[in-house]
Amino acid sequence: MTSPAAADLLAWYDRHRRALPWRALPGERADPYRVWASEIMLQQTTVTAVRPYYERFMARFPTVAALAAAPSEEVMQAWAGLGYYSRARNLHACAMAVMADHRGRFPDTEDGLRALPGIGAYTAGAVAAIAFDRPAAAVDGNVERVMTRLFAIEDLLPGARPLVRERVMEMMPPDRPGDFAQALMDLGATLCTPRNPACGLCPWREPCVARSEGTQESFPRKAAKKAGATRYGAAFVLSRQDGALLLRTRPPKGLLGGMAEVPTSEWRADYELDGAAQDAPVVTRWRELAPPVRHVFTHFPLELTVFTARAPAGMAAPPGMRFTPAAGLGTEPLSSVMLKVLELAGAYSSSKTR
Ligand code: SF4
Repeated sequence: MTSPAAADLLAWYDRHRRALPWRALPGERADPYRVWASEIMLQQTTVTAVRPYYERFMARFPTVAALAAAPSEEVMQAWAGLGYYSRARNLHACAMAVMADHRGRFPDTEDGLRALPGIGAYTAGAVAAIAFDRPAAAVDGNVERVMTRLFAIEDLLPGARPLVRERVMEMMPPDRPGDFAQALMDLGATLCTPRNPACGLCPWREPCVARSEGTQESFPRKAAKKAGATRYGAAFVLSRQDGALLLRTRPPKGLLGGMAEVPTSEWRADYELDGAAQDAPVVTRWRELAPPVRHVFTHFPLELTVFTARAPAGMAAPPGMRFTPAAGLGTEPLSSVMLKVLELAGAYSSSKTR
């Protein structure tokens, strides 16, 4: 069996690339603002749904400067109907950060992009590759499906993601990283579909291991959503300048009912860390800590990735939450998993009072 070559995929892309309003024409330079805005809109939303919104949005806010200068109500109004409104808030915050901190130009590296509000690993990789032709991997669900089939990657997602990224990077053509990223997306969206992939038309049909074994639809392998499967999530430790921490109380019934916690995302087997910024209680620069906090409940193990950020002294808590002064933490009903989170964040030492 031959090895898959980027050149075969690129030759296919040159003939079959999708015409998308945010995509530069062959030979044109992509506009980082348009690429970034489209990638934010496409999170959890289909190309068909995004297309009309995107075009209206761009007519209203043709540049990052125009978006940053707009009142937030106007941005939310232009977004109305796309759902997931935290994305619109992040979009606006990011545009303002680009204007304030980067003189209106998007950073041209993955690391630089990741430091902006609302930009996770996937979006940073996509914008770095597409807008700046950086050799960066943009691994979304489409790309995961293509790569796990191509190499018959048995590891379960999301744990298999680093391996998928590695495979993408190994094949990355140094002269056309942006086209390679888009070609992978197009292949996943048009031929390598979840059901009935059109393998007969695929430029990688020869080297594709899953096709040769007739197991395409069994990839990607995913962690089962059953009791006992590890759940994943994000926890957000926001400390105010005066030392107070943002907390909330869990609902009275259910797991850890009535206990205090820092705001977290949902805990799910298929939780996507890449979208964690959408689950944060406030839009700010969150710093990801490593390693994640692990905790085993009776019914499932939990892995929480902790993010920290600072808030100004006078900041009020979002609805349903409270800032608890550092001295009052010992009286909060914090569960052991929360104590682990706070200890990792350096916000609490369980040896103090417990
Ligand atoms: S041959 Fe089929 S399963 Fe393999 S990458 Fe192509 S479309 Fe996907």
